[in-house]
Amino acid sequence: MKDFVYTGHAQRVVFGSGTLQRLGKEVAALGASRAIVLSTPGQRAEAERVATLLGARCVGIFDRAEMHVPIEVAREARELAAKLGVDCAVAVGGGSTIGLGKAIALESALPFIAIPTTYAGSEMTSIYGITETGLKKTGLDARVRPRTVLYDVDLTLSLPVATSVTSGMNALAHAAESLYAADTNPVIDLIAQEGIAAFGRALPALGSADPARIDAARAEALYGAWLCGTALGAVGMGLHHKLCHTLGGSFNLPHAETHTIVLPHALAYNAKAAPTAMARTAQALGRGDAPQGVFDIAQGAGARMALRDIGMRSADLDRACEIAMQNRYPNPRPLEARAIRQLLQDAFDGVRPA
Ligand code: NAD
Repeated sequence: MKDFVYTGHAQRVVFGSGTLQRLGKEVAALGASRAIVLSTPGQRAEAERVATLLGARCVGIFDRAEMHVPIEVAREARELAAKLGVDCAVAVGGGSTIGLGKAIALESALPFIAIPTTYAGSEMTSIYGITETGLKKTGLDARVRPRTVLYDVDLTLSLPVATSVTSGMNALAHAAESLYAADTNPVIDLIAQEGIAAFGRALPALGSADPARIDAARAEALYGAWLCGTALGAVGMGLHHKLCHTLGGSFNLPHAETHTIVLPHALAYNAKAAPTAMARTAQALGRGDAPQGVFDIAQGAGARMALRDIGMRSADLDRACEIAMQNRYPNPRPLEARAIRQLLQDAFDGVRPA
C-alpha cells in the first residue's frame, strides 16, 4: 500500500427527509440567535420558509445570490449581515448560494449552515470562488467550510430532472477524478466509489414514472452528493476540472452541463494512465468501461452530450486548448496539446468514447 495522509474536517451532517424542521435546533447548537438566510431570487420562497421556521432567530433574508459569486453581490450581502448584526448565515440552495455563504464566512468568520438543494458538493469543501472584473478567483480557506450541513431530500424534489442529471454528473466527476488524484488515500477512495455507485443507481431513475422509484433515487442522489463533495473537499482535482473551469470561465458555458459533457472524454484521456481508478469507477457504475459507462448513463438520462449544443463555438476550441495547457496541475497523464485538442473536439461533437 502507498503511504498517505488523511485530514479529517469537523463538520456536522444531518441527512434525511424533512430534516429542515431541525434547523432551529442546529442554529441554537452553534450558539447563534441572529441568522441571515441566503438564496437566489428563484429560491426566495425556500428562503422565506426557512425564515419562518427560524422565527425570531432569523433577522433577514438576502435573495440575490448569483452564479460565480460576483464581488459586488458578496459585498452587498456582507454589508447587510454587518448592519443586521448577524451571528450566523444559513444558505439554502445550490453551489451559487453556498458560494455566497462562503464569501461572507471568509471575511467575518461567522459560522454558517448550508442546506444544499443541488448535488454540486460545495458544502463539503474549503474552496471558495469570487468573481471580480470578469475573472473568477478561487482560494482555499478552512473558515469557509459550513459548520453544519443539513441535507433534506424534500428540498431537491423541485430540481427539474434535466438539471438534476447534470448536477449529478457534476458530483460524479468529483469522485471519478479523486480516484486518480496524486494525494488521494484509501478512505477517500471508498467514499468516492460509494458516491459514484449512488449516482449510478440514481441517475437512470430520476426521470422514472414510478413515484417510489423517484423517491429512492432522490435520496440516493443527495447521499451521493455528500460523498462526492467530500472527495472534492479532500484531494486535488485534475484535467477534467481544469478544462471545465476554462470552459465555464472563459467561454461562459453552463457549469453542470459542461461537466456532464467533458467527463467521459477526460476519463478516456486518462484511462491508460490510471487503470485502477478506471476499474473502480466502472465497477461502481456496474459497467464494463468507465468513460463509456459515464457517457451512456448521462445520455440515457437525457443529458445533452455535445459542447456545440450548449453554446461552445468551434472557432474557440483552439483557444480553450491553449488556456488548458497554460496551467500546470497534477494529472495522471501528462498534458499533451494535440490529444487535449482532440478531447475538446470529441466533447464538442458529442461522440461516445471509443
Ligand atoms: P446553482 O447554485 O447556480 O443553481 C442553479 C439554479 O438552480 C439556481 O437558479 C438555483 O436557485 C436553482 N435551484 C437550486 N436548487 C433548486 C431546487 N432544488 N429546485 C429548484 N431550483 C433550484 O448551481 P450549482 O450547479 O449547484 O452550483 C454551481 C456553482 O457552484 C458554480 O459557480 C460552481 O463553480 C460552484 N461550485 C463550487 C464548489 C466549491 O467547492 N467551491 C463546488 C461545486 C460547485
